[in-house]
Amino acid sequence: MRYVSTRGEAPSLDFAEVTLAGLASDGGLYVPEEWPQFSLDEIAAMRGLPYAELAARVMEPFVGDSLTPERLRALTAKAYGRFAHKAVTPLVQLDEQHWVLELFHGPTLAFKDVALQMLGLLFEEFLGREEGSLTIVGATSGDTGSAAIDAVAGLDNVEIFMLHPKGRVSDVQRRQMTTVRAPNVHNIAIDGSFDDAQAMVKRIFADGDVTAKHRIGAVNSINWARLMAQVVYYFAASLQLGGPERKLAFSVPTGNFGDVFAGHVAARMGLPIERLIVATNVNDILHRALGQGDYSAGTVTPTAAPSMDIQVSSNFERLLFDVGGRNGAAMAEQMRGFEADKAMRLTNAQREGAAALFTSARADEGDTSQAMRWAYEQCGEMLDPHTAIGLHAAREAAIDSDVPVVTLATAHPAKFPDAVERATGLRPPLPSRVGDLFAREESFIELPGTYEAVRDHIMERAS
Ligand SMILES: *Cc1c(COP(=O)(O)O)cnc(C)c1O
Repeated sequence: MRYVSTRGEAPSLDFAEVTLAGLASDGGLYVPEEWPQFSLDEIAAMRGLPYAELAARVMEPFVGDSLTPERLRALTAKAYGRFAHKAVTPLVQLDEQHWVLELFHGPTLAFKDVALQMLGLLFEEFLGREEGSLTIVGATSGDTGSAAIDAVAGLDNVEIFMLHPKGRVSDVQRRQMTTVRAPNVHNIAIDGSFDDAQAMVKRIFADGDVTAKHRIGAVNSINWARLMAQVVYYFAASLQLGGPERKLAFSVPTGNFGDVFAGHVAARMGLPIERLIVATNVNDILHRALGQGDYSAGTVTPTAAPSMDIQVSSNFERLLFDVGGRNGAAMAEQMRGFEADKAMRLTNAQREGAAALFTSARADEGDTSQAMRWAYEQCGEMLDPHTAIGLHAAREAAIDSDVPVVTLATAHPAKFPDAVERATGLRPPLPSRVGDLFAREESFIELPGTYEAVRDHIMERAS
């Protein structure tokens, strides 16, 4: 399997190379040259497999020659063996039509673990072969940081610098990053938003002074391997609810468009999906883009769902490339326009291509609280605010009543106890697997929100 950049200029890479590369050298994102296909019979034959086995089957065509099937199975067994639930991503029924897919049973309580536990092992595997080292620079709206740090803390040949927007992540989220004491972990709080942090990370990849000295790697969902790992649970949910004979709809709380893009990939591979519902909070650039073709970034409004407080959704470029004719030169031109104006229009092909599978809905803070209350009072389920936004969108979407609608539960409610308590009156306790989080000492550095400050810090500290 070869991977090509959405902007058409960077060299094509194999799976091992794309895992270590992160962002393409032309500023684009890597996507598979073509989508692997499964027939309905092949999908039906996956029913009943343990999650780690299913993961190896779904990932195998993407991995190509970079790993033997046996080695891939060993890695998925190790990655998913650390989850606190035997089913890894269990489904919970809310009512006749609605289900939640719990993706938060990993070590740091959010769905990011599903991909990052695997990505950490892939880094170790591929770097070990060539005795290389990797300097990871990442931006987090809260959950990628903790999941990535958990996945790579203590590794010899990997160093991680993680930027988070100061004061805009929850206490649990911050402590899960800053209380990990390992010599290869560096936490940075910047003055600014997640979008500012993500823009700095993208600049690092394009900064020749940095890349001449260090091989920079990515743990954000700009890294293809993350999306690949997330495709698996769309298959897992479908197989449990009557697929592939029966179509499902999925509602996905969305920020950087990675998780829901993985659903698009599952559909491209042949999994029957009725609809993908893109759920946003008031930072609704994706809702406006899908509804009106208007992709224009405003300023970020902080909400109870900080992991979705994003205005520039990196992975949307992958969708626009894929449904818009896969024309790298045109995509590069369109993105140059967006980078200059912070706004662009979708082409007709992009709008129609997206509308075939995607719809969207937006939840304000009242809708979010109400969805948490509804789930708790009517179904006995405590949801975190991100999942609640997904559920709100799922219930608004008017999907035919005979189609099951699965909302992706992206975080454990205990990660956002204040918002849950405000909505339901109950404070969800932290699961025992996070240990004495509030007793441990924190370590992070604060930097101004300028590129130079961040770059200089990384250049000084990176070994
Ligand atoms: C990261 C995150 C999201 C958004 O996922 P994207 O892949 O960026 O769209 C939603 N909810 C939670 C809890 C997250 O951590």
